[in-house]
Amino acid sequence: MTTIPFNTPFIAGKELYYIAQAVTLGNIGGDGQFTRKCSRLLEERFNIRKVLLTPSCTAALEMAAMLCGLGPEDEVIVPSFTFVSTVNAFVRVGAKPVFVDIRPDTLNIDDSLIEEAITPNTKAIWPVHYAGVGCEMDRIMTIAEKHGLLVVEDAAQGVNAFHDSRALGSIGHLGAYSFHETKNYICGEGGALCINRPEFVERAEIIRDKGTNRQKFLRGEVDKYTWVDLGSSYVPSEICSAYLYAQLEMVDTIAERRRQIHEFYRQRLEPLEAKEMLRLPHIPEDCRGGHHMFYVLLPDVATRDGLLAYLRSRGVHAVFHYVPLHSSPMGKKYGYRDGDLPVTEELSGRLLRLPFYHSITEQEQMQVVQAVGECLQRKNAQRVQRQLAGDVPRCLVNVPGAACPEHDR
Ligand SMILES: *Cc1c(COP(=O)(O)O)cnc(C)c1O
Repeated sequence: MTTIPFNTPFIAGKELYYIAQAVTLGNIGGDGQFTRKCSRLLEERFNIRKVLLTPSCTAALEMAAMLCGLGPEDEVIVPSFTFVSTVNAFVRVGAKPVFVDIRPDTLNIDDSLIEEAITPNTKAIWPVHYAGVGCEMDRIMTIAEKHGLLVVEDAAQGVNAFHDSRALGSIGHLGAYSFHETKNYICGEGGALCINRPEFVERAEIIRDKGTNRQKFLRGEVDKYTWVDLGSSYVPSEICSAYLYAQLEMVDTIAERRRQIHEFYRQRLEPLEAKEMLRLPHIPEDCRGGHHMFYVLLPDVATRDGLLAYLRSRGVHAVFHYVPLHSSPMGKKYGYRDGDLPVTEELSGRLLRLPFYHSITEQEQMQVVQAVGECLQRKNAQRVQRQLAGDVPRCLVNVPGAACPEHDR
């Protein structure tokens, strides 16, 4: 029995060669040729006004919060079903999260609940493209425009993913990408800030470079650089950018590999979905690319936890995902309670992510699929047996032909 990890980093092409080149050229600090090449490639390919590489998506989101001018008293509308960095980015400058429930189909922020969450203190909407599947961005942008709000896309999982013909990260006023080793295109730790509003560019460059106008100096626009604003150290090392550039050169190959992995799971698991033993991810017609992960939704928490344990016993490292932020100790400090966001709470408890990485083989995927099938069929068989013994109403048994008692008569 081989052990199948949940994720493992990979080399797609010239990563090591480019790192050696960066070292040989004598520039492993920030903003050398590889960082510039990555920015340009992302700008051109995804039609983004300005892309600034950062050491992480977390850093890019922090920059976005600063650029939006968020502070105490300000409110930001955000899903609770997300990674901590989405929210910490603005909480650390004093703004308050206003958590909105998710849509049961895509697990993205429920756009129909956004308007009722707006108050006079609302400054921004902060959607997250879960699994690289786009939020309802047209509707979100319309709401934002109507109420004069800024939109920051957390597109950590949505690099090279599209909503209609627009790249995720290119639609809101600002967007953030992640190149963490668990994401689709990687460099260890890395990220990017996508700037779609020209008036943010100059200040973003200053914030990124310790609050100085060093970028202007490097372009020869000023004769020395100095401290002009708030800032931090948000420039990545050339070593990371060199790795990333090799990945971005192979963006189509990597995307195709992920599409195949996704498709393999989908096809092999469809029979279980047809028997209502699990639910597969929903991808709306107008969403393309993404393929950040493959999750399944089980009928209840007990089945999810049972499946997780069974897969571990078969060497398969599946994992669950976010514990909703509103039910965390920090979320409770903001006055949230369990039960506030029913869809988020229910779906997060039923979700399981399957191993998904560039180098996973069909054989390994088959091992995952078989283990999932064994566990769920066995559980179902137990229910059928109990039902035959009269313990479980027949309508609760997921077998073809099983009908409700009324229909039996
Ligand atoms: C991974 C992730 C982040 C954080 O990315 P880092 O590059 O690790 O900082 C933020 N938001 C979401 C939705 C993520 O999936």
